[in-house]
Amino acid sequence: MKLKRTIRYALIVIILLVILVLTFGPGYLDKSQNKVLPHSPFNISQQAIELHQSLQIGDLHADTSLWKRDLLEKIENGHVDIPRLSEGNVAVQMFTAVTKVPAGINYEKNSTEARDLVQLIAILERWPVNSWSSLTQRALHQVSNIRSLEKEAPEKFKFILSAKDLATHLGKRATGSSIVGGMMGTEGSHALDGDLENIKVLFDAGYRMMSLHHFFDNKLGGSLHGESTAGLTEFGKQAVLKMNQLEVMIDVSHSSEAVVEDVLAITSRPLIVSHTGIRGHCDLKRNIHDPLMQKIAKSGGLIGVGYWEGAVCEATPKNIVAAIRYAIDLLGEDHVALGSDFDGATTTPFDTSELAILTEEMLVAGFTEIEIRKVMGANMMRYFAENLPAG
Ligand SMILES: [Zn+2]
Repeated sequence: MKLKRTIRYALIVIILLVILVLTFGPGYLDKSQNKVLPHSPFNISQQAIELHQSLQIGDLHADTSLWKRDLLEKIENGHVDIPRLSEGNVAVQMFTAVTKVPAGINYEKNSTEARDLVQLIAILERWPVNSWSSLTQRALHQVSNIRSLEKEAPEKFKFILSAKDLATHLGKRATGSSIVGGMMGTEGSHALDGDLENIKVLFDAGYRMMSLHHFFDNKLGGSLHGESTAGLTEFGKQAVLKMNQLEVMIDVSHSSEAVVEDVLAITSRPLIVSHTGIRGHCDLKRNIHDPLMQKIAKSGGLIGVGYWEGAVCEATPKNIVAAIRYAIDLLGEDHVALGSDFDGATTTPFDTSELAILTEEMLVAGFTEIEIRKVMGANMMRYFAENLPAG
């Protein structure tokens, strides 16, 4: 009798604990992983404010869809939500779906077999049960969350699928609307669950950019932070050709340099490096070497400069602008864009609502107005207009 009562109490305690973890766990995790360096309000000149308001701003990479947030509300956690994108005058944000992260994640060497942390997040955030074991389902869950924003608030958010959508959206903003545009990309093609047919499945669900790798080697080839440093596999080659055929933009962030060379040799479309630093400016293994970056740019590619330490070595607005200057000098003003890596378990010097500080620092650093317009978004809009399905 006494034992029975003890078991009952133990069960109640366990259930309460589970409820507590499921209620407060996701917010705690989000807050602890995505931080803004403490700072007093930035001093921004009238000239920078006016120029910033006149820009068409785009960002190539934010992992916001991994976290449990109501993106239509302005929240404390992390770097991005729709009200903050609007405050920062962002026209188009590329959201990127993280589907697998190895425990012990580092820039040097990760095992493909390491414990998968996104599975824990999927359980904690109560994603559909089929996403616990399928990476494709995790990607489908994330795109469905982002697309639902448009259904809930069509006056605030537009999901972009084609060059036509993009032109209509930018036209609307040009007449004074502050509606924010969003798109979806994957972070790593392990999201295909090893099946080429899933490229079409993800495309049909709304994905318009796919990266090949994240922190570990996968069926397509070697990661920049994996064990093999190998090039593209036969499966990887087939995947690239299929992405070309469907007009999916290819992101080679996190791919090994051998993979990047192999993709350049067969792709019929220019490449994106959605979030990176430039090795000659910040000599860390996270960033590929300058000559390969030049090759990507020469073939029409687009390079998004990130805001965190691993990309720029010192995460300050001034130093991010120094990285952008270095990138323009190395690659040309038509090939450099913003690739924040907001909400990618990163610590950044500002969130997306405070983007005007970049415009300010670029003016201080003597950038021309044309350079500022191009880097802040015009290059990305041009690239998207040329490489998205016409619609
Ligand atoms: Zn990344």
